[in-house]
Amino acid sequence: MISTAFSVLFVSFLLLTLVLQFWLGSRHIRHVLQHRAQVPAEFAERIPLAAHQKAADYTVAKTKLGMLMLVLNAIVLIGFTLFGGLQWLAVSLVKLSGPGMLYQLSLLTAFALITSLIDLPFDYYKQFVLEEKFGFNKMSKGLFFGDMLKSTLLGAAIGLPLIWVMLMLMDKSGALWWLYAWIFWSGFQLLMMVIFPTWIAPLFNKFSPLEDDSLRARIEGLMQRVGFASKGLFVMDGSKRSAHGNAYFSGFGASKRIVFFDTLLSRLSAPEIEAVLAHELGHFKLKHIVKRICVMFIISLGFLALLGFLKQQVWFFTGLGVDPMLLASNDAMALILFMLSLPIFTFILSPLSSITSRKHEFEADAFAAKYSSADDLVAALVKLYEDNASTLTPDPLHSAFYDSHPPASVRIGKLQLSATAATTSGAIA
Ligand SMILES: [Zn+2]
Repeated sequence: MISTAFSVLFVSFLLLTLVLQFWLGSRHIRHVLQHRAQVPAEFAERIPLAAHQKAADYTVAKTKLGMLMLVLNAIVLIGFTLFGGLQWLAVSLVKLSGPGMLYQLSLLTAFALITSLIDLPFDYYKQFVLEEKFGFNKMSKGLFFGDMLKSTLLGAAIGLPLIWVMLMLMDKSGALWWLYAWIFWSGFQLLMMVIFPTWIAPLFNKFSPLEDDSLRARIEGLMQRVGFASKGLFVMDGSKRSAHGNAYFSGFGASKRIVFFDTLLSRLSAPEIEAVLAHELGHFKLKHIVKRICVMFIISLGFLALLGFLKQQVWFFTGLGVDPMLLASNDAMALILFMLSLPIFTFILSPLSSITSRKHEFEADAFAAKYSSADDLVAALVKLYEDNASTLTPDPLHSAFYDSHPPASVRIGKLQLSATAATTSGAIA
């Protein structure tokens, strides 16, 4: 009875999410196309019409592919759950491997492999058709498959021991397993933040120290002004995969480092690079990174507690098309069902995370305006928008659900205000 009710709830939320996502996607496409003919007035002097139209076409193409993926993902999800895919997989694997830990690990591995195989043609299409068409793809096919092989091996090397510990905790540590699992998971996350920049990222990219002396002096000046100590400034060979440019800040404690994509350095002037970095340092100095990590930990505690409850409920399994096993452990299956169903119930909440993240972006922009220059940051953002073919005219509702950053016009409008305020107050003083 509860089981049927849960199935109905699950399908309803799936349909609701799907309809909502389709509505947002088609609004976005319509909005972008409506503004395609003309560069918005505030950008008219800086962005050529051809670049604006390329951004519109790129956005529409990406959004359409995204909508196609939504349908496919929904079909796969129903196939795995209510149409019995997972049930069949579990029964077949338990026959092969017996009811022990080997069954649980092979169930999770098989699930991960099947989903990656389903995604593969789409990832390939996105890289070699869509990105290629707009001139962003710099990857050879060898690199694409090499990356895939590397991440699969790395995923197995890190993921399997991790999952093994989680399953042991679920099985052996009693009613409060979710609390122990949370402590373990949080520790692992912190460890990853420390080892990712120095151990994992270099498996995929080359990092070389920033060699431009005058730029380095400028950046060190900025770091001194804001009071920031870093282990190093690095340039990453992002250009071997994509023409998209970026700068990021990674690591934690002693391992923190600033990384510039080579694509970014080649496009921006020294003052613009400084302004972009000032924005990134703003995130750090204003404790956005620590806050984000804390929120992530609190949410994962809530989710693990919820999983602790759900894995005891027979309706959670049967409602999603799986008969719990009597002789083998159902923990791995509970993990899979949880990962599959959770996003269906939480998508509707995504604007909440966008709201906080936008607030942080405005604060980091204000920080950059204070310690560097608002005008340089605006110039850098305009170039980045143009180079990345990011649309300047997103649909506001679509943006509220999907974008961590505020729309360009809002962001740049605020920065320009603060730039004018700075010159006027300077003139008065
Ligand atoms: Zn930011």
